Amino acid sequence: MTRLPDPVEVPCPLCGCTQAHTLYWTTDYLFGISDHRFGVKRCDDCGAGYLSPRPTVESIADYYPEAFYWSWEGADGKLDWPTIVTKRMPQLRAKARWLDGIPPGRLLDIGAQKGEFLWFMQQKGWTVEGVELDQKVPNPAHLPIRYGDFLAMEFGDRRYDAITFWAVLEHVYEPHRFFAKAATLLQPGGHLIALVTNLNSIQARYYQADDFPRHLTLFTRSAIRRLCSTEGLTLDRLVTDQKIFAGTLNGGLLYMAKRALGYAAPEALAEWKQLDDPDLFWCKWRGTASVWVRMASHLDRLLTQPVELLLDRLGCGFILTFSARRDAKKD
Ligand SMILES: [Zn+2]
Repeated sequence: MTRLPDPVEVPCPLCGCTQAHTLYWTTDYLFGISDHRFGVKRCDDCGAGYLSPRPTVESIADYYPEAFYWSWEGADGKLDWPTIVTKRMPQLRAKARWLDGIPPGRLLDIGAQKGEFLWFMQQKGWTVEGVELDQKVPNPAHLPIRYGDFLAMEFGDRRYDAITFWAVLEHVYEPHRFFAKAATLLQPGGHLIALVTNLNSIQARYYQADDFPRHLTLFTRSAIRRLCSTEGLTLDRLVTDQKIFAGTLNGGLLYMAKRALGYAAPEALAEWKQLDDPDLFWCKWRGTASVWVRMASHLDRLLTQPVELLLDRLGCGFILTFSARRDAKKD
């Protein structure tokens, strides 16, 4: 295990308030990069969730192994571009639906990763640009992606008709500044569309489903409303659903069963978040194949799905997506 600097305490990354209470402690179950413990707190002012203590800025890159960027395509497979986009097609279509009704113009995708969304929107007639922090991320289709810190980038007079953050704001150290800068880069009438995770969900509160410590801020519906109003944006739409990313409850019942039958929480969570051996959680009891665990996992999937749909309807699902607009009359 890598020896990394001790995590540091921080104020709320959305509103700067220092008053908060700890909801639970967590660790990097997914990649096990360090054995540090991170506190998940709820801000007493804006109600958002955030990690504190959290990894230092200098150490965070270590928490993003190469597998993080390829996990979607399989841990060991580096696939070619047509295979990558074909595999992601349902997700790309679901993202693009958030821009339905906006005439194609200039699009900026922040956290563009390999450029899949840029490629897709380019086909639809958009002039695309991307920003990606990490130079390690490959750009197989040679899309116009700038690498580095969005907050440090110069945009001159360029303004955009749409700016997208797909699962980005929860990863960055200063989400408020990211949001504020994006808001200033919008054309009057331009749209800011973002997908984040929801602290007020069963997944985040009880199953530690957020990807810690890579997720540093956990949003809520009211924190998003406040953010939009602070930056002078009109919030058009705010929903929880699983059309882009599955905010799955799957595994929740099995998790509870394992806990009730003797698993410690870290042990059950570590199995649940296995990328290399997903069967471990779903089919095995402490590493050994178990028909009972397999049966329980089928039952789990059957029973959790309707609950999940209901929670999404009530706005308490795990994945929050919203669209906000800069006033066309301003400036
Ligand atoms: Zn706050």
